[in-house]
Amino acid sequence: MSDGMTGARFPEAQPPGSPSSGSQSSLHRGNLDRVLHAVRMAGALTQAEIARGTGLSAATVSNIVRELKALDMVEVTPTSSGGRRARAVSLSRASGVVVGIDFGHRHLRVAIGDFAHRVLAEEHVPIDVDSSADEGFALADRLLGVLLDRAGVVRSEVTGVGLGVPGPIDIDTGALGSTTILPGWVGCHPREAMGERLGLPVLVDNDANLGALGELVWGAGVGCTEMAYLKVSGGVGAGLVIGGRLYRGPGGTAGEIGHITLDESGPVCRCGNRGCLETFTNASYLLDLLRGSHGTDLTIQRMIELAGAGDAGCRRVVADAGRHVGVGVASLTNLLNPQRIILGGDLAGAGDLLIAPIVESVGRYAIPSASRRLSVVTGSLGERAEVLGAMAMVMSEMAPFAIERTPEPQIAGAAM
Ligand SMILES: [Zn+2]
Repeated sequence: MSDGMTGARFPEAQPPGSPSSGSQSSLHRGNLDRVLHAVRMAGALTQAEIARGTGLSAATVSNIVRELKALDMVEVTPTSSGGRRARAVSLSRASGVVVGIDFGHRHLRVAIGDFAHRVLAEEHVPIDVDSSADEGFALADRLLGVLLDRAGVVRSEVTGVGLGVPGPIDIDTGALGSTTILPGWVGCHPREAMGERLGLPVLVDNDANLGALGELVWGAGVGCTEMAYLKVSGGVGAGLVIGGRLYRGPGGTAGEIGHITLDESGPVCRCGNRGCLETFTNASYLLDLLRGSHGTDLTIQRMIELAGAGDAGCRRVVADAGRHVGVGVASLTNLLNPQRIILGGDLAGAGDLLIAPIVESVGRYAIPSASRRLSVVTGSLGERAEVLGAMAMVMSEMAPFAIERTPEPQIAGAAM
């Protein structure tokens, strides 16, 4: 095999962190990992795209793809690129499958996908918000069983499970913190409880982070390297993507944009501060504004419908919420210089009625050089964003089992 030598002639292709005098074998293994990582993050790539994305030479990529194909780790299928015939490389079904489970607003969603980014089966069922965490996990287990049967997948093929919960997870204890959606679940340990029940490795994250991953891999964020997904529902949370990867911060709390201060003497927030962005966008604040004019039965859903139908009061409340969210988006724009801000959550249903005032605020408060390339859009996945993001989390953070069992490649003539 000569690609080890090829790698040695391209020192820039060395994986970060490997010793400069490292063996040919570890250099080759590093190159192999980079190709596999690029392919599994994109779903499918041509060999030219792999070379561009990894910085490896075309010859090295070609040799590695041939090797991976012989190990049954990748599939190579004909495609076209810029009108020319090309070959698309994706991870094979032998790499295993991933599962996403999302406990969200009113619904439990479960999906199964493969490392080529194909969704094999997906379903959602209503969830009783008064049910216990145990009942919720048991329901997820049953629904997963149904979907595995439907997709013709056995449990041992599952690499891992991504689990979405509607609240913050304490990074030290793994316990679920305050959540307005499933109040009876506070203090439960979703990762351990779900892992024990399913007998599978589980990763857990919150809805904003998973929404960001879902939109990044399958939705409105495809192709972005710098973006934020803003979930505007009860609270306002952001999932931040920097350099093409989700950024969580050392304590896992990055993206708490809902708690930037808009008014130091404003209403007291659930975090204990005053005048946080969230205090001007949460449901009870918005509906209180309309109580006198629209009565006490109004819901956020109905408010958005009425705004869409031209109701002046509802339009004004949505626009003011957008203006406030826009102050946060402007700060985010100055800090991150993102290509795209993607809106999700209940209020995103208002579409342009929410986006226009956000864009106006960004124009007012962000510096022009930071906002020039920015687009603000609603997510394209709707309520599926989190469950698809849960699958994407497993794809990006757990090694497919075919990779775990790959033997060290034998390099002929590797001279030390
Ligand atoms: Zn706050």
